[in-house]
Amino acid sequence: MSKLCHRAVKCSVYAAVAAMLLASAFRVSAADAHTEVVGKSLDGRPIECQVYGEGEDVLWIIATIHGNEAAGTPLVAEFVKWLKLHPEELKGRRVVVTPVANPDGFADNVRHNRTGVDLNRNFPAGNFDSKVKVYGETPLSEPESRSLMRVLSQYFPDRVVTIHQPLDCMDWDGDASKPMAEAMAAKCRLPVKQVGSRPGSLGSFVGLTLGKPIVTMELPEKAGMDGDVLWKEYGESLIAALRYDHQEQADSSKGSPQ
Ligand SMILES: [Zn+2]
Repeated sequence: MSKLCHRAVKCSVYAAVAAMLLASAFRVSAADAHTEVVGKSLDGRPIECQVYGEGEDVLWIIATIHGNEAAGTPLVAEFVKWLKLHPEELKGRRVVVTPVANPDGFADNVRHNRTGVDLNRNFPAGNFDSKVKVYGETPLSEPESRSLMRVLSQYFPDRVVTIHQPLDCMDWDGDASKPMAEAMAAKCRLPVKQVGSRPGSLGSFVGLTLGKPIVTMELPEKAGMDGDVLWKEYGESLIAALRYDHQEQADSSKGSPQ
C-alpha cells in the first residue's frame, strides 16, 4: 500500500471513529444533564458542550482542539460515564465538557480548522501573535474559538483541563496552575513539565491573562483511541482535577495570618 493510500485509509478510519463518537457516545439524555450546541465549525458541524451539576465550583474539560490529537475525546467520554455513576461528586460542583472542540479537524485528523488556523493560538491572550498567518488574523477570528469563548464567559470555570498530544507531560500556564498540574500528575504516569506558554493559546489566555488554573494534559503520541485503556491510565488524574480545591490552594499559599 502506498504511503498516500495508507494515509487516506487512516483518515477514513479517523472520520468513521469521529462520526461514531459524535453520533452516539456524546448523546446525553435530558434526564442526566444538558447538552448544548455552543456554536458551529466552518463546515457546519455542531460544537457541543455537556453540563453536569449545578454547583458553584466549575471545572471545564476540553478535548481535541487540535483535530489530530484526539485521544482526549474517548477519555472524556469515560469521565462522563464515571460521573454518571458518581453523582455525589457533583455536590457543590458543575462540570462542563467539550468533547470535540475542533470537529472539522477531528473528522479529517488534522491539527487546524478548515481555513488552516491553529485554534489554540487564536485566543485573546496578551501574547497573541498577529504576524503568524496560521494563528488567525485577529484573536477569535474563527467560529470554533468564539464558541469556546462563549463557554468561558457563560460558565466562567474555576479551573480548566485541556487535553492534547503528543508531549507526554502535565503542562501548565500561570502560577495558579502548577499545584493543580502536580495534583493531576500524582495520579498518572505523566510528569509535571512546563512546556512554555504558546502565543494566543487557551492556556495563555486562561492561565496568564485571566490568572485561573489551567492544565494542559499532554498525552503521548500513541495514546490510542480506546476509552477503557485511556481511562485506566489517566482517569484518576481527571478525577483529581474535579476534586482539586483551588480555593484551599489559594488560601494556603497566603501563609499563616499575622
Ligand atoms: Zn495540541
